[in-house]
Amino acid sequence: MKTTLNTDITVNDICDGFVYNELEGKGLFGLSGKLTIQPEYQRNYIYAHEGKEAAVIESVLKDYPIGLIYFNKTSDGKFEVLDGQQRITSLGRFITEKFAIQDEDGLQQNFSGMAKDKKKRILEAKLTIYECEGEETEIKAWFKTINIAGVPLNNQELLNAIYSGPFVTLGKEEFSNSQNANIQKWSVYVKGSANRQEFLERALDWVSKGDIDGYMTSHRKEKNINELKKYFNSVIDWISSVFTDVESEMRGLEWGRLYEEYHKKAYNPTKVSAKVQELYGDPYVKNRKGIYEFILGGSTETKLLDVRVFDDAIKKSVYASQTKVAEAKGKSNCPLCAIGHNANKSTIWKLADMDADHVAAWSKGGGTNIKNCQILCKSHNRAKGNR
Ligand SMILES: [Zn+2]
Repeated sequence: MKTTLNTDITVNDICDGFVYNELEGKGLFGLSGKLTIQPEYQRNYIYAHEGKEAAVIESVLKDYPIGLIYFNKTSDGKFEVLDGQQRITSLGRFITEKFAIQDEDGLQQNFSGMAKDKKKRILEAKLTIYECEGEETEIKAWFKTINIAGVPLNNQELLNAIYSGPFVTLGKEEFSNSQNANIQKWSVYVKGSANRQEFLERALDWVSKGDIDGYMTSHRKEKNINELKKYFNSVIDWISSVFTDVESEMRGLEWGRLYEEYHKKAYNPTKVSAKVQELYGDPYVKNRKGIYEFILGGSTETKLLDVRVFDDAIKKSVYASQTKVAEAKGKSNCPLCAIGHNANKSTIWKLADMDADHVAAWSKGGGTNIKNCQILCKSHNRAKGNR
């Protein structure tokens, strides 16, 4: 890869013919049309959401460097921004009056309202640009290793860069466009933001059963995302038809895995909803996120709910009374050992060798209170199992 340093390009040059499209995913141009600011392997513009745009303008005004910018020189003599998209877009957006900065007096200041000398300082500021020339694979491999100033690329953003092509472009149009009316519905179940490619990542993760890399490799050249869309929508539709309630704990669960495991089973949504509400109202359920898989699996794996255990005070108190009665009778203080016939039938266990147990199982309505607590030796407690 060949690189040439260019320090002659000014902010004014870069912003000549600057186009900003509010709908993400569209190309942005500069340098009188010679520069593509957002090639398809770049991520969507995110500075605006993170409040860093103003910092770029303030740096230029103070003559601070805004960092190296990398261009890829394409075969037709034009350029694509490899690194610096967000800084350039911030400059272009300021000059085209898309946002204002605060002046020293804390007042909002847009570009056209600025003093002449300040405007000039911005427009004439020179950028430090490396122009790179090389094979596509070379450029992309290198791109993978750099971090864009400010926010490092996340995994999916890197994968989009590496597997750029029609498939990624279509995928981004569907899943990475915050204007898509479905985003709100998806957000109930999927964590993250469209801009940072987290919906696309989830869709790929689900359809590929976790092998995003492999899936992107084999579909790279395809000109449709039918399978991806269909699978994603099947999962979403399945969740919303089984669970009619919307709870914050549903967001970010492993729905792809749960769909694979349970979508062939029939559920009665009215009963499911009643069960969800019952468990949400149960003070012993510590892990509400586990409620969904618990219900899907037939309400037996109480482990998923992390049911509240007896506290130490209750354990000690029950241990003391159980042990006192047992010693008086000459029997084991584990009620199950006491009724047995082996050597342990008269063993007095130490508290450390015993565990608290629900007499009436929690799953059958037994509370986690002193009346429903018994202490068993560890092996009998284990044998009673996780109920
Ligand atoms: Zn025992």
